[in-house]
Amino acid sequence: YQQSLMTYGRLPAVTRDGSRSVRISANIELVDEIDIAYSHGAEGIGLFRTEYLFLGRPDLPSEEEQFQAYRHVLEHHAPKPVTIRTLDIGGDKIAVSLDTPHETNPALGFRAIRLCLSRTDLFKTQLRAIYRAAVYGNCKLLIPMISCLPELFATKKLLETVKEELRSEGLSYGNDVKLGILVEVPSAVAIADLLAKEVDFFSIGTNDLIQYALAIDRVNEHVNYLYDTLHPAILRLIRQIVSAGQAGGIHVAMCGEMAGDPVNTPILLGLGLDELSMNALAIPLVKKLIRSISMDECRELTWQAFQMSDAREIHGFLESWIRKRF
Ligand code: PEP
Ligand code: MG
Repeated sequence: YQQSLMTYGRLPAVTRDGSRSVRISANIELVDEIDIAYSHGAEGIGLFRTEYLFLGRPDLPSEEEQFQAYRHVLEHHAPKPVTIRTLDIGGDKIAVSLDTPHETNPALGFRAIRLCLSRTDLFKTQLRAIYRAAVYGNCKLLIPMISCLPELFATKKLLETVKEELRSEGLSYGNDVKLGILVEVPSAVAIADLLAKEVDFFSIGTNDLIQYALAIDRVNEHVNYLYDTLHPAILRLIRQIVSAGQAGGIHVAMCGEMAGDPVNTPILLGLGLDELSMNALAIPLVKKLIRSISMDECRELTWQAFQMSDAREIHGFLESWIRKRF
């Protein structure tokens, strides 16, 4: 069964009515995972988490070490896109080398882009490595935890500085790197129309978006039972992000765990996502599903799910819809 499923990985993600509107890509956390992504049929890397380079060691990775890692992944997948996420440290991921303060509410604290904008030495080193590596493939840059426009403007300013420095040093760098943000903080959803004017793409980080929107700590076992992917609030937030992205003419991806659960595949297509990035092991089954449904059906199912007010009801509805066809 696993073998026959694997053959779906190699087939294109085209719906029964011929739509190729959704790209299926893989999330990776280590350079070694690129082979698994490839063999399972990833059409690119939708999320390359770079934290592993910083964790479990006393020192910081040099620009050269980072450059080699990014270059390796980019070269391996070229010309397919690789979306490199800048450092998302802090919260539940602590790097000893960074000497970050102890926090009572780390999820709401000094993490990701907040930390990077205050430690520009660290951020610039990573950006230099990414831009230099971008010469070797199709590189996209993804910024985590953006919650307001000033953070994005400060980031863009830093990107320009980095490119200028590389230029003046005579080093070559990618000059067609698309810039995107993770939409994973509710305030970013509320201003998605404004953010869409400033970036080339959105990627929806449902793991954090659900935690922040529902006020449920994603690593707290006592409240886990409330962590509901299909909460009507979450579906509405996703709809809002997609329509702001479409109005702004930009690509909208999803890279949280929600994207790889096959129960969600039809509704995510119906909502109009352009890309689903997931654990590579989930790709063959998701592609198989996509190849057996039509966009019209997905839109109809989505409309029906939006009439429902309860997450369990929506989940039951999606599950039985899929079970009826397989
Ligand atoms: C997310 O928040 O959905 C996400 C993709 O990033 P992470 O799980 O690394 O926070
Ligand atoms: Mg996140």
